[in-house]
Amino acid sequence: MSKILKCADLMPGCNFVAEGKDVAEVMAKGAEHAKRDHGMATIPPEVAAKAQAAIKDK
Ligand SMILES: [Zn+2]
Repeated sequence: MSKILKCADLMPGCNFVAEGKDVAEVMAKGAEHAKRDHGMATIPPEVAAKAQAAIKDK
């Protein structure tokens, strides 16, 4: 089953959705998006934890 992360769960108003075959792939896509579109050079641990909690089965 693939996994999905809606950025809006973390950043209200953002319509980015990361999809991947597993949590690691979704987190990698989410981290890339956060760098590019939210100006996060690094992902703080609490944001990573929230992102991980927001990942759902698709
Ligand atoms: Zn976003």
